Amino acid sequence: MTRLAICPGSFDPVTYGHLDIIQRGAKIFDHVIVAVFNNQSKDPLFTVKERMKLLEECTSHLPNVTVDSSSSLLMDYAKSKNAQAVIRGLRAVSDFEYEMQITSMNRQLYEDIETFFMMTNNQYSFLSSSIVKEVAKYRANVSDMVPKAVEEALALKFK
Ligand code: ADP
Repeated sequence: MTRLAICPGSFDPVTYGHLDIIQRGAKIFDHVIVAVFNNQSKDPLFTVKERMKLLEECTSHLPNVTVDSSSSLLMDYAKSKNAQAVIRGLRAVSDFEYEMQITSMNRQLYEDIETFFMMTNNQYSFLSSSIVKEVAKYRANVSDMVPKAVEEALALKFK
């Protein structure tokens, strides 16, 4: 049986924190689908297409990772792909309560799809797409936070 996990998120844009979770997930599962969900309440900077393209570029070295997008409910999407698991990253305690609520709801929807949490790598515990956008807006250096392709895309957005 192929063990498939979905790694969902906004990825607006993808950071080294996301990539760390994706890479570690790809070592455990046979296949990981990184799925971009459009969370309108977050007022995105990049379109879903742009976010997917950046993710594809940044994960091209991982043969068992593919990139997709969806506007469905996460668990309906996971079920439609026959995924066994959903992977989420945890940074601080502040992530915990929100994730617990979502996971408990998701389990009610499909109890046989497991949610796996991975603790962030210490060096990325304060890294988020929002921080990256805030810093990039002032044209400060974000090379420690995102890959080159993302850095360039941010520079173009804030030109
Ligand atoms: P969402 O809108 O679903 O929170 P994000 O794009 O912000 O989407 O994050 C996608 C996933 O990546 C989430 O599970 C989030 O916790 C995780 N993540 C984001 N940044 C980091 C980081 N620096 N370290 C570990 N995990 C992270």
